[in-house]
Amino acid sequence: MPAANVPVRAADGAPPWIREVAPGTLGRVELTFYGARGSCPCAGVRYQRYGGNTASVLVRTSSDELIVLDLGTGLRALGAAVSSDHPSGGRPVQATALLTHLHFDHILGLPFFGPLRHEDSVFEVYGPRQPEGELSGVLGDVVRPPFFPVPLQHLLSELRFHDVGDGEVFAIGDAKVRARVVRHPGVTLGYRIEADGQSLAYLPDHQQPAPGEAWDHRALELCEGVDVLVHDAQYTQFELEHKKDWGHSTVEFAVELARRARVHHLVLFHHDPSHDDEMLDDMLEQAAKLAAPDRITVSSAREGATFSI
Ligand SMILES: [Zn+2]
Ligand SMILES: [Zn+2]
Repeated sequence: MPAANVPVRAADGAPPWIREVAPGTLGRVELTFYGARGSCPCAGVRYQRYGGNTASVLVRTSSDELIVLDLGTGLRALGAAVSSDHPSGGRPVQATALLTHLHFDHILGLPFFGPLRHEDSVFEVYGPRQPEGELSGVLGDVVRPPFFPVPLQHLLSELRFHDVGDGEVFAIGDAKVRARVVRHPGVTLGYRIEADGQSLAYLPDHQQPAPGEAWDHRALELCEGVDVLVHDAQYTQFELEHKKDWGHSTVEFAVELARRARVHHLVLFHHDPSHDDEMLDDMLEQAAKLAAPDRITVSSAREGATFSI
């Protein structure tokens, strides 16, 4: 089914996370961006419209299943939206996270996820199996003194980790999830989620092939025919020349992948911290022009925007 081509709810001046998203309002899968930045968070008037928090996206199915994509700094506001920002803590939350990889920009929000302070919350985290050991141990080595005052295992909520390998398929409520390893420094997964008859692929960090190099069939498989593809579009062509092996893609590649995989709606994601609002507007305009002949809708992720699939 073709996706909506504009955000159905978006920031209109007020911080979007203070508005409760009513479950199932649209009767479909909803996708809300709480962090769309890559590499490093940024702040200031130049980043006002797209936001400066790093990767964290909430997927809400019509049966009100909460699926969190990545645990970047946007996770703090996401937690406030589904629970509360009140200092005394909000209500407990049951949610599942799909973590793509362990780079800082994808995990820094974890200890700031408010629902973890509630003993009745349950947070399941699926993430890539690490060569260094179990996911719980590897993340526990970062979320502990002296990096963070409270060790991960001392947070009040129930926190369960699931180590995921390439090609694994699992269910989150009614949603079916498929994980594949994609090209990026370190072990990195991309995800495809199917729920309510809709499909979404999430590849926030994906290194495009060098000229003449074969395409990654695993990435293509995840994206094939999806309604919405949220994809790495961090660089311009000029930037890629200087950062060929830094693990990311250009806007042009994101459009080309959407074309080859017959995607309906491409959402540009993992914005470079050096790109201000104006620059991101230009990149979106360029992508929309490139995608127009194939009737692919293109959007650029910004904090507070909700899309229905
Ligand atoms: Zn990243
Ligand atoms: Zn990364």
